[in-house]
Amino acid sequence: MHSRREFIHRLAISTAGIPFLSSKFPFFDDRPLRVAIMGLGGYGTRVGEAMQSCRRAKLVGVISGTPSKIKAWQEKYNIPDKNCYNYENFDNIKENTDIDAVYVITPNALHHDHVIRAAKAGKHVICEKPMALNAKEGQDMVNACREANVKLLVGYRMHFEPKTLEIVRMRKEGEFGKILFFQGLSGFKIGDPNQWRLDKDLAGGGSLMDIGIYAINGARYMVGEEPVWVTAQETKTDPQKFKDGVDETIQFQMGFQSGAVASCLSTYNMNNLDRFFLNGEKGFAELQPSTGYGPIEGKTHIGPLTQPHKTHQTVQMDEMAGIILDGHKAIVPVDGMEGLKDLQIIDAIYEACRSGQKVSLQA
Ligand code: NAD
Repeated sequence: MHSRREFIHRLAISTAGIPFLSSKFPFFDDRPLRVAIMGLGGYGTRVGEAMQSCRRAKLVGVISGTPSKIKAWQEKYNIPDKNCYNYENFDNIKENTDIDAVYVITPNALHHDHVIRAAKAGKHVICEKPMALNAKEGQDMVNACREANVKLLVGYRMHFEPKTLEIVRMRKEGEFGKILFFQGLSGFKIGDPNQWRLDKDLAGGGSLMDIGIYAINGARYMVGEEPVWVTAQETKTDPQKFKDGVDETIQFQMGFQSGAVASCLSTYNMNNLDRFFLNGEKGFAELQPSTGYGPIEGKTHIGPLTQPHKTHQTVQMDEMAGIILDGHKAIVPVDGMEGLKDLQIIDAIYEACRSGQKVSLQA
């Protein structure tokens, strides 16, 4: 990283005054973000596939505990042996100058250790949601990446989705007027009772960690403020499947400094729940589906949203390459602090479920 920066700096000095060598010098535009994916499961597989269409991000390595998966990925994506690691030896990635970033796509409880180790190896880190199991862990990860001088980003793919961004633009420009209300419904009926998502030790909770986080995160970017309080109620109809500490359904409410309120549902026990609704004094926006893999569908008070669908993970990885390599700023941020804010709200929602009280948050 440093040598590249120095090189750019030297080149900038040496080309100063040569107008045709502008900042659009093709060498820099073409340099890809070279990524190793850690965790070759369902979502890792989707990201790997989507990265094949990236302009700026390139899959160059893998980290997995399953040799047969490594072999299959090597063959499919032409990954050299020297860029393959397992969970025991991946700290050696520090010596590998052909890898810029590690994308952590393992079960939630492993993110904390995996992100900190990748940061200590001097690699930028992209981490899947939820960034960690709680705000304390999230803060550790933010600190570790700061200390290692690497970037920490969270795989919030909706932050780059065109219909979502159009609503964010309209809200920023006042087209909905004062924002009054947000509704976020996020859920699905979960299958296999033996999967890690239903194991408190690996998932850190239940539906809220996995799918309810979309309503939390969505409330923040749709309303455009941080909540100052939450209330929450938990319902459990199947304690066999949803054991202690694994939430089945949580309804939660959030209040914002402006007076806007949000009402949300997170569940592992109902289908057809992927809907955002934003209401303001002058207009409204709705998205349904709002956070699935797409196409996202929606409309506002002035008509349907028509922005074309692009594979979310392809766009995300190209945009993240720009953030990491060129210091671009995302319209809706995707850095570790964003992940941490969602974890603070998750902590508060669980506390509100336990206590039955309204829980205050720092704005
Ligand atoms: P998955 O079960 O399909 O894959 C998890 C991978 O982690 C597997 O390859 C598994 O072998 C590996 N793993 C490593 N150590 C493990 C351990 N100790 N126990 C179990 N598995 C272990 O899960 P997934 O759906 O790919 O989810 C992975 C992460 O990605 C989760 O944090 C999840 O929230 C996130 N995710 C994000 C999105 C999104 O749209 N952003 C979508 C799906 C999943």
